Amino acid sequence: MAPILGCIADDFTGATDLANMLVRGGMRTVQLIGVPDENKVVPEADAIVVALKSRTNPVEEAVAQSRAALKWLENAGCRQFFFKYCSTFDSTDEGNIGPVTDALMADLKTDFTIACPAFPETGRTIFKGHLFVGDQLLSDSPMRNHPLTPMTDSNLVSVLQRQTEKSVKLIQFATVEAGSEAVSAEMSALKAAGGGVAIVDAVLDRHLFSIGYSLVDLVLITGGSGIALGLPENYRRQGLLNETAGADAIPAIPGHAAVLAGSCSVATLGQIDRFKADHPSFGIDPLRLADDQNVVEEVLDWAREKIPAGPVLVYASQPSETVRAIQERLGRAEAGALIEEAMAGIAKGLIASGVRRLVVAGGETSGAVVSALDVSGLRIGAQIDPGVPATVSLDDEPIALALKSGNFGGPDFFAKALAAMP
Ligand code: ADP
Repeated sequence: MAPILGCIADDFTGATDLANMLVRGGMRTVQLIGVPDENKVVPEADAIVVALKSRTNPVEEAVAQSRAALKWLENAGCRQFFFKYCSTFDSTDEGNIGPVTDALMADLKTDFTIACPAFPETGRTIFKGHLFVGDQLLSDSPMRNHPLTPMTDSNLVSVLQRQTEKSVKLIQFATVEAGSEAVSAEMSALKAAGGGVAIVDAVLDRHLFSIGYSLVDLVLITGGSGIALGLPENYRRQGLLNETAGADAIPAIPGHAAVLAGSCSVATLGQIDRFKADHPSFGIDPLRLADDQNVVEEVLDWAREKIPAGPVLVYASQPSETVRAIQERLGRAEAGALIEEAMAGIAKGLIASGVRRLVVAGGETSGAVVSALDVSGLRIGAQIDPGVPATVSLDDEPIALALKSGNFGGPDFFAKALAAMP
């Protein structure tokens, strides 16, 4: 059976977040990394999420990548499409949310879609078109100082209108609160009036469910992962999706286990402390890495000796004062790249030494590891901690992977992740 839903996500961890949400809704989901090759076999799944890295690319690149992903998903037989971006609507007046939406609408020959980044579970709500992050307007939140996509206007109707040729409308809270019939009626009225893109207010999960119910006839949906909450139920009602249990099934992968940490977030530092207490660990000194090529080999020699007895931890993570001192010596980007390259080399060496279960902490670090290991896609399993699922790579020699961005996961995340990937 062909997949039902084809998703295009503008970054890696956002893709995983959406995939995790769909699996929780009972859809077997696969995440593909980058635009798939034309002749890539369509994996057996109800939903496919193509993870791009297009959030802050030049507009033309983001549009081209998104269109290529759409084409592949259309050829794979998907019947509904989802453009996933961040729940804080990360973009600039140039894009990329507006231009990508315009291009996907043109390719799908549709003149109406919605834009709904609301995700109440993570504090992202929309009221009267204004996006809130927790108790603050988006424009008062730390997102106003984001280095790449500073968000200084919380009114999503204005924000999106500056990025798109379409007319941007608002489906008001009162309509959403009145339920899905009211939302559907409003969508029909907007379509009849010439279409465009509608920002949709949503404050509670139940609003996302009633909006979700009204999305049955839209070929394209755009938003955060929250809006995917109501989709699996639509497919069940349409008779497209039968299974409710077993969507999160992934095969057990026998082999040695290791944890690689490159995130310096407070959560990751706590997780490292907890895991170190009862597992062998190796802390990499970035300053040594800068002038000594042999650190990676040294780590691997150490690890090869330890892994037969149980999981090991390799980390570069340090508290913020130490990181600042290292960045002053090496440069911020240079230090990051040097450590990511080392982590990538260590991951490759560990796999060559029989490691088949790998936990990686850090968004950029995960990206570096996945690309070093040539992972083309992931089957998404059960959630380990909010937003982080266990996964298994789709390749001939599968690896179990838990990839988490810095601040995710409880203090015992590493042990919990390894237990979830037996
Ligand atoms: P997060 O998800 O917490 O943002 P990332 O992996 O995305 O984690 O980013 C962390 C960055 O910090 C990476 O580029 C990593 O290489 C770098 N890094 C890790 N340890 C150190 C350190 N001790 N000093 C400087 N930079 C570091």
